[in-house]
Amino acid sequence: MLEVRRLSADHGQLRAVHELSLSLEAGRAHAVIGANGAGKSTLLRAIAGLHPPSSGSVLLDGEDITREPPELRVTRGICLVPEGRRLFASLTVEENLLVGRHRAAKGPWEPGRVYELFPWLRERRRQPASQLSGGEQQAVAIGRALVANPRVLLLDELSLGLAPKIVRQLYELLPRLLETGMAVLLVEQDVSQAMRVASRVQCLLEGRTTLEGRPRDFTPAQIEAAYFGLR
Ligand code: ATP
Repeated sequence: MLEVRRLSADHGQLRAVHELSLSLEAGRAHAVIGANGAGKSTLLRAIAGLHPPSSGSVLLDGEDITREPPELRVTRGICLVPEGRRLFASLTVEENLLVGRHRAAKGPWEPGRVYELFPWLRERRRQPASQLSGGEQQAVAIGRALVANPRVLLLDELSLGLAPKIVRQLYELLPRLLETGMAVLLVEQDVSQAMRVASRVQCLLEGRTTLEGRPRDFTPAQIEAAYFGLR
């Protein structure tokens, strides 16, 4: 469904992503893991159209969308849950969800369905986002992407700053999204969560792939070596 071919992306003189390739199928999760600064967010932002790549391409269903603006990619079904959630703090939960309807593709997701997924959010729908806990805010950020009816959901560090129990709860949702045929590309520093849900894992180090394959094909020592660049 989504294919990234030899994508490179720079921040000024710094090459953050070096000729990265990956492909993602419907109903599957692909995990990109790596330490701080490995290039994970830059990769996701390039796929979402928020960071222009220096070379390489992004294809959706075989069609080259590398030069398309981000809002058009949303309408095509590529939606990002950004690192740090980036909610509108003074807007209510429901208003934040409705922001996600702008440019949304047609499909089954609307705020009511998000509340079925996160029942506690329904009770809080009239509260400003700033009054929510970190985990609740992350749920709103996921909901805001879902109401755009993504075919490809890009998740940037779901676990960041959240308690392990909350992280587990958020990750338990992912199989339910995959069952609907959604494809999920997730980037994580929390390797164990990511490996549990993903059918493929790709490790980045300084913008380059150091390991790629099925999670069960690697030992923890191999993952660790790829993650930290050990020999
Ligand atoms: P993190 O988990 O810290 O977000 P990451 O794997 O997502 O790390 P990126 O945020 O993509 O990595 O950063 C990759 C490289 O690009 C790093 O060396 C980082 O310092 C650099 N970088 C990221 N954003 C910028 C920016 N806006 N300006 C300059 N350099 C940047």
